[in-house]
Amino acid sequence: MAYDCDVLIIGGGPAGVTLAVLLAKRGVSVIVAEKEAGIYPLPRAAHIDHEGMRVLQEAGVADAVMATSRRASRYDFLNAKGELLLRFEGGDQTGPGGWPAANMIHQPSVEAELRKVLAGLPGAKLRSRWEMTGFTQDGEGVTATLATPEGEKTLRARYLVGADGARSPVREACAIHFDDLNFEEPWLVVDVLVDDYSKLPTANLQICNPDRPTTCVLMGEGRHRWEFMILPGETAEQVSEDAFIEQLLEPWSVKGAVRIERKAVYTFRARIAAEWRLGSVLLAGDAAHQTPPFAGQGMCSGLRDVHNLAWKLSAVIEGKADDALLDSYQTERAPNLRATIDMAIMMGKTVCITSKWGAFVRDCKFKLARMLGKLPDGPPSYPPISAGTILAGSSGAGSYFPQSLAADGTKLDDVLGRSHWLIARADLTSPKLAPFAKPIASWLDKLGVDAVLVRPDRYVFGTGEAAQLQAAWDGL
Ligand SMILES: Cc1cc2nc3c(=O)[nH]c(=O)nc-3n(C[C@H](O)[C@H](O)[C@H](O)COP(=O)(O)OP(=O)(O)OC[C@H]3O[C@@H](n4cnc5c(N)ncnc54)[C@H](O)[C@@H]3O)c2cc1C
Repeated sequence: MAYDCDVLIIGGGPAGVTLAVLLAKRGVSVIVAEKEAGIYPLPRAAHIDHEGMRVLQEAGVADAVMATSRRASRYDFLNAKGELLLRFEGGDQTGPGGWPAANMIHQPSVEAELRKVLAGLPGAKLRSRWEMTGFTQDGEGVTATLATPEGEKTLRARYLVGADGARSPVREACAIHFDDLNFEEPWLVVDVLVDDYSKLPTANLQICNPDRPTTCVLMGEGRHRWEFMILPGETAEQVSEDAFIEQLLEPWSVKGAVRIERKAVYTFRARIAAEWRLGSVLLAGDAAHQTPPFAGQGMCSGLRDVHNLAWKLSAVIEGKADDALLDSYQTERAPNLRATIDMAIMMGKTVCITSKWGAFVRDCKFKLARMLGKLPDGPPSYPPISAGTILAGSSGAGSYFPQSLAADGTKLDDVLGRSHWLIARADLTSPKLAPFAKPIASWLDKLGVDAVLVRPDRYVFGTGEAAQLQAAWDGL
């Protein structure tokens, strides 16, 4: 049976559409089937880190996202008295990805930009109101059935990616177990339109007040967000009333400065799928994992998933690599993901304390840790790849290769393109690399190596001698 596309992606959220864009730009034919008519309208991601921005750069939407994003220099966790418990500084400084470390955004606007790019790519199609209802797979690919406004359709693809969100019918159909990491807290999320920014905090805040743990963070231009923990005895309906929300906002003295735009009740959870691949079916984004939003990493993790997956899928589809390359997807991503979830749970457990005694003990612990200089301060960072498609044993293999900027602001990735890069010291005088020579030379110096081979997802394959690196890469 002929293929309708190389990759059928179920789910047109940020993970699915970004993957489609990255694949289509590599010449892979893609169909995205999305069951809803439009973009999910309720409050979700407000933050993208520098690494996520670099993925969006490759997708071609980073400048548009930056144009409406905002930044705070601090992310503070304060107790009920306003005393500092935890502080992450430098969100407005350039991170290793070559973009500011923490960018506050409006998720539907980011998704709209991604869909705009996708619409212009030949070989990629987004089909709205197409709901995947089942699939079978054989040794050659996947056959999926979809309910569409024109009736049931059958599509055949070489691979199917379930980017179909937390409830993931694809994960369910594969009977893949979701490991529960034991975090479950109900919160109300309120996004507001801002008429007067002078009345709003300029830092991102977690108010660790046991009477009502509260989050207050920036969003993209024109918006701001509050999140309120729902207390025992309160119902979702009760806390969603505008009058109730106005009461919750009262201590912030923002009457007249903001208007409620949208609200939603979520149970924040931490879960990770036991398997991310079953034959020709792969999971990405929330379908593979969920994290409480305190570290702002859910969507960012999905973007890392699809950056990891895109070059591997396209190499396999082009016949340049064996299908076994796809097995390294989970091996590489799951430990990184686990670290982001652990960070989010640590933050969540700091915030979600509703007993006065518990809050007192927490405050004492943080004050002591602060006195002893044992608290982190810079933006959170996550571990390198420790096993997978890397040249094991070579120094720096699996680490994140930073994106340098030239004096005029030009970004390295824009000059070198989306493929893998072999950069040797001797190349640094070439017209392309000369503007970036200083930071790259100092990176090579730090590791004491002559050359680096950087994978298309900007993780280091290996370092050492150029010809050997190229041979090892070709050997894949
Ligand atoms: C309150 C809150 C705050 C958050 N804050 C942040 C943050 O600051 N930073 C961050 O990085 N992340 C954040 N997140 C997480 C982020 O929103 C999610 O991780 C992200 O939306 C997941 O993207 P996705 O594409 O994997 O899944 P989704 O966006 O859920 O998309 C899945 C899509 O699949 C479709 N679908 C489902 N079943 C089918 C089917 N059978 N057929 C066809 N289509 C189907 C759905 O309609 C949906 O459009 C937050 C989440 C919440 C709730």
